[in-house]
This record gives sequence, structure tokens and C-alpha cells, in this order.
Amino acid sequence: MKRVVVIGASQAGLLAMKTLARQCPSSVSLSAHLISPNDFAYFNIASPRLLVQPELLHKVLFNIQDILKNLNHNSKDQFTFTQGSVSDINLDKRKIYLHKSLVPIEYDALIIASGNRMDSLAFKLSNIQSQHHTIREIQSLSKKIRSANSIAVIGGGTTGVEIAGELTNNRKFTKKVTLYTGQESPLAEFESCHRKKGIDRLNKLGVEIINNEMVKIIEDNTAVKLQDGTVKKYSVVIPAYRSIPNSEFLPSSVLSKRGYLDTDEYFRLKNYHEVIGLGDILDCGKKSSLDLFYAQKQVFEATVAHEIFEKKDIKLKKYEPVQTDKSFVVPIGRDGGVAAIWNIPLPKFVVKQFKAKDFLIPKAKLQMENNLGRFPLLEVPHQPRNWVNSLFHNNKLESHNSSGLHLWDVSVPRNCP
Ligand SMILES: Cc1cc2nc3c(=O)[nH]c(=O)nc-3n(C[C@H](O)[C@H](O)[C@H](O)COP(=O)(O)OP(=O)(O)OC[C@H]3O[C@@H](n4cnc5c(N)ncnc54)[C@H](O)[C@@H]3O)c2cc1C
Repeated sequence: MKRVVVIGASQAGLLAMKTLARQCPSSVSLSAHLISPNDFAYFNIASPRLLVQPELLHKVLFNIQDILKNLNHNSKDQFTFTQGSVSDINLDKRKIYLHKSLVPIEYDALIIASGNRMDSLAFKLSNIQSQHHTIREIQSLSKKIRSANSIAVIGGGTTGVEIAGELTNNRKFTKKVTLYTGQESPLAEFESCHRKKGIDRLNKLGVEIINNEMVKIIEDNTAVKLQDGTVKKYSVVIPAYRSIPNSEFLPSSVLSKRGYLDTDEYFRLKNYHEVIGLGDILDCGKKSSLDLFYAQKQVFEATVAHEIFEKKDIKLKKYEPVQTDKSFVVPIGRDGGVAAIWNIPLPKFVVKQFKAKDFLIPKAKLQMENNLGRFPLLEVPHQPRNWVNSLFHNNKLESHNSSGLHLWDVSVPRNCP
């Protein structure tokens, strides 16, 4: 019996379980054991929209036991789930320990997919508590937002910008929204033309942008302290700037300076090749689903085949990250935002059709339950021409087929001006 433990049940952990089910040879009997504090997986990509439409929450949560039941695998194999949080690990003895339990779980191979968390549980799952805390956080924030007059969003990255867009672009709300970017501009990771588009859009929606100010959130998330000591009061302050690696259960010897998993380019721990990382916990990774499904997945599959199932004829694949600063979609409000593919800017209506109109919520089920291994957002880089055709001719993403006009070549500006 090959005992494999997977830590974390979000996009990466579920992809790992699916990979194990698919790759296990019939000669091996497998016990794959998934461990996570949440017993429902959360499609967190939609979280900015949930702040203003919390009634959609039930559409982005998926029962993990049901997902495991639907995995295709040999009947002799076991796919089990334990709700719990890993608190300690002994890599030499191959044992892991859960919070409040002294009984170790032993493994032959370990997959670490414990991701990262943010200051607010609304945007990412917790490392210790269940998804109920995320649900409560969204409901509570959304209630505060509804009755607020002024809101400060802290963080000028894509999450902060998406949230600011949601708060200002909803007819029900007429709030004053201030975005503290903490850097020289919102979306500073992108090239200047994309940044400018983002700033124009935020300005149009009436968002006040404050750059180069490192604020401290105080008074129970109702005020911020500026660098010169001035205190600014708001009805509610939403933190959206810090990612904390979920790696406290690991020894510092296997972590990078930033606290993420320090692996080789095949995602193995350097001195423990039976321990493999996947998803946002990887130090070398891009912290995006796009990177997970289009760059990490193939590397991980080869490493699992090679290291766990000992298919030594399968060659390891080196990781080459997706350039997430060149291919991205950032909705800013319901009918626009900023997007590019290979750094080529995409028009506003593409952003709307792609993500802004519904934040991919109708595709969340397919993504999380059935189709782990493809990310709906990312069909673009693979079939750009068909996809653009479908937008122009059918106004539906799902309807593309393998033929059609090559509108891609003539309709979209080729470069950042
Ligand atoms: C607001 C927002 C919007 C985003 N939008 C996009 C987008 O449009 N496109 C895109 O490509 N990417 C997007 N991303 C990034 C994407 O969400 C992540 O890349 C993805 O969630 C990574 O999944 P993961 O499974 O690696 O980690 P996570 O989602 O962080 O999940 C980690 C899992 O591990 C569990 N865990 C943690 N600690 C422990 C422990 N000690 N023991 C057991 N289990 C543990 C957690 O509970 C959770 O189940 C967005 C991120 C945010 C925050």
C-alpha cells in the first residue's frame, strides 16, 4: 500500500488528488489522504464580487467529500478526507501531526498544497479554521459595506483594485472609496500602459487613489494611521495587501526567507524527494491559478509519476512560470477593467465578457468539482483566435469551435503603446 498524504484542500490540493487518481498504476494499491481545516472548497477568485453580492456564496463552495467520490480511480484505491489542520511534521520519520491530536499520520509520500492566507479570511481560506469563518467574514464585511459612508481599501495589487471597482460600480452603493496602494501606483506590477488604463478606470468610477503611503490599520478596522501620524477615519477599512505563507508546521530548513516552500525546479524538497509542493505555497511559483493549471500542473504530474509511482521512464519536467504580469484579466467594476494576453492589451468588452460581468461564478463548479486540470479563464492562450471570434460573433465564451475568422490579428492592438 502506497500512503500519500496531501495537505490543503483548495485548487492545488484537489488537483493533486485528481493527479494521484489518474496516475496510479493498477499494480499499486494507493491510499490518498487529503487533510484540510475546510470541508468545502472555496472558489476565492470571486471574493471581490461576494462582498457586494454575498447571496452568491452558495455558488462558490463545494463539498470535498463529493469531489473525492467523483474521482475516477481503481476500486482498490482509497481516497479519504480528514478535516483538520497540520501543526507539526517530522520529515525524517515521515510523520505529520494535526492540531489537538497526538497520534501521528504516517506517509510514504507527501504533497504540500497549503497555500497562503490574507489578513481578511474573505479572500482566502484559513490555515486553522473551517470555511465557516470565511463565510462569516464575507457576510460581516458585506453588512458593514452596505451601511458605510466611506471605505478604505488597503493594497494596490489586483485584489485591492478589484475590490475598489466592486464597491464603486454597484448602483446600490454611493460610497466614498479610497484606495491606499502602498506603492507608486495601483497595479504596479504591470507595464505602464495597463497601469494607466487601470488608473483611468478607477478615476472614472470615483475612487480616490493614494500612493506611496504605508498605512497602519487601527481602531478595529475603522481608521488608518498615515506615516506622519495623521489618523483618517472610515466606516470600514478592508485589508487586501498581505499574503502569509501557510507553512508554520514546516521546519525553517525547508523554507525560503519569505517563508514559502523551498523546492527544486521539479517541486521536490531538496533533501526529501518524496515531499512535493504545489500551488501558492511554492516559493518559485507565481501565486495564481493561471500558473497552477498552465505551468505547474505538467511539472507536478511528471514528478508524481517519477517519485511517487516510480515510473522512472517518465522524465522530470522543469518548471517555467507563466508570465502573470503579461497575461491577466483584472475587472474594475462590472463592465470593464484591464486585461492583456502576452502583454497585448485587450479591449474593455473582453474584460467584461471574460470576468467582470460574473467573476467566473458560473464556471466555478466546473472548475472546482469536475474539471480540475483546466482553468476556464485560461482557454485564451491556447485558442486565442477561436475565442476572440466567439466574442465577436456569438458574444459567448463557451461557443467557440475549431474554425472561424482570424479576427484576433486585425482587431486587437499588438503592443503596449
Ligand atoms: C481575491 C483573489 C482573486 C484571485 N483571482 C485570481 C484570478 O483571477 N486568476 C488567477 O489565476 N488567480 C487568482 N487568484 C490566485 C488564486 O486564488 C490562487 O493561486 C489559488 O487559490 C491557489 O490555490 P492553492 O490551493 O495553492 O492555495 P490556497 O487557495 O491558499 O489553499 C490552501 C489550502 O490549504 C489549507 N491549509 C492551510 N494551512 C493548512 C494546514 N496547516 N493544515 C492543513 N491544511 C492547511 C487551506 O485551508 C486551504 O484549503 C486570486 C487570489 C485572490 C486572493
